[in-house]
Amino acid sequence: MDFELAEEHRMLKDLVARFVRDELMPLEKGVLAREAEGRGLGLADAEHKRLDEISRSLGLWGLDAPEDVGGSDLPALAMVGVWEEIGRTVTPYTLPPDSPNLRMLMATVNERQRAAYLAPYVAGETVSAIGISEPGAGGDPAGMTTTAVRDGDDWVINGRKIWISRAADADFTILMALTDREKRARGGISAFLVDKGTPGFNVLRGIPMVGGAYTYEVALEDCRVEGWKLLGTEGNGFAPMQLRLGTRRIQMAAWSVGMAQRALDMIIDYAPQRVTFGVPLSERQAIQWWVTDAATKIHASRLMTYDCAWKLDQGRDVRLEISMIKAFATEMAWEVVDHAMQTFGAMGMTKELPLQLMAAKIRTMRIYDGPTEVHKWVVARNLLGTRR
Ligand SMILES: Cc1cc2nc3c(=O)[nH]c(=O)nc-3n(C[C@H](O)[C@H](O)[C@H](O)COP(=O)(O)OP(=O)(O)OC[C@H]3O[C@@H](n4cnc5c(N)ncnc54)[C@H](O)[C@@H]3O)c2cc1C
Repeated sequence: MDFELAEEHRMLKDLVARFVRDELMPLEKGVLAREAEGRGLGLADAEHKRLDEISRSLGLWGLDAPEDVGGSDLPALAMVGVWEEIGRTVTPYTLPPDSPNLRMLMATVNERQRAAYLAPYVAGETVSAIGISEPGAGGDPAGMTTTAVRDGDDWVINGRKIWISRAADADFTILMALTDREKRARGGISAFLVDKGTPGFNVLRGIPMVGGAYTYEVALEDCRVEGWKLLGTEGNGFAPMQLRLGTRRIQMAAWSVGMAQRALDMIIDYAPQRVTFGVPLSERQAIQWWVTDAATKIHASRLMTYDCAWKLDQGRDVRLEISMIKAFATEMAWEVVDHAMQTFGAMGMTKELPLQLMAAKIRTMRIYDGPTEVHKWVVARNLLGTRR
């Protein structure tokens, strides 16, 4: 049993750590100021362009994409180290392409879609979104009511999606819809590639979320999609969608480890300096226990995430592990960031430190891609053999 990352994966992790330290961290002050002024989380175009140039020159693009479309085809275990480092910063930058939709595309595209969608996505030329959630079905996506009906060679989609990140800007949205109302998750849900500007794909409103993020509500009104834009085969969209969600959940666990580690580092740096009642905070048992608990739980989360990624790379079924780490690591980071905010007192309540933005980010992570309680229920249901 070897608990260390392989040498080349460790070197990659170190490279990303330097990229985060030298390029992303210096942008945080501007990110925090913009968010505090209510101007959202996005980077300026020039900042984004510069980061793209640097990350591309460092060879940090397409890390887990297939080699034949310009990627490096790295395993999940290598990506966990990358995501952990990225998780340390609140500067919103994703190394192109974002892995979850990439994984779903990789599992489903045909040759035509590979050239038209996958290749430009890997090259960082396009941005994607995923439309699963609906007003009546979020944590339970099998309850969706959006339908896609064949009309000649095309599909016509009707329904409503909500909480869709990037829906207004994405070049294409992977849209999930019912193609068989009876079968639902068992052969009745299909995935479609819907291009930006497709008539009937109507972005109704942007919804400001906690921490400067934005999601969108989308009405699908006789939205006509050409037949070749069905992703994978009819009725078989649910499994690749779960693959996509699983990738995001492992990524979120790794982000959580990085975020919690940064919050712990901040406590360790600050607690010895701050004296109250004649004694440094680092000598108070309350703070010491927060430090110990944080270090212990970060260690546990990191090992569980590595274990899950390793098993995934071996082709093993990791559905249970994914639910465990998604729930455990996000809750862990929530607790550690909260303790860091408490340690910093009023300073921890300001919008000058990144802690409040980390807290807002992790707060949403406890909901999206399945709330904590749903993942705990999935694990218990599996262990107890209960169906509901
Ligand atoms: C910032 C953000 C970005 C998002 N981006 C996207 C996106 O890009 N695309 C997309 O399709 N969706 C997106 N979502 C939606 C997200 O995935 C859903 O919000 C999430 O799955 C929960 O669904 P819901 O909001 O309908 O909550 P519900 O399913 O209504 O659940 C509400 C609460 O009920 C409890 N609960 C529900 N079921 C159970 C159970 N079985 N056992 C115990 N307790 C339970 C939980 O406490 C849960 O938090 C995003 C959400 C957020 C917050």
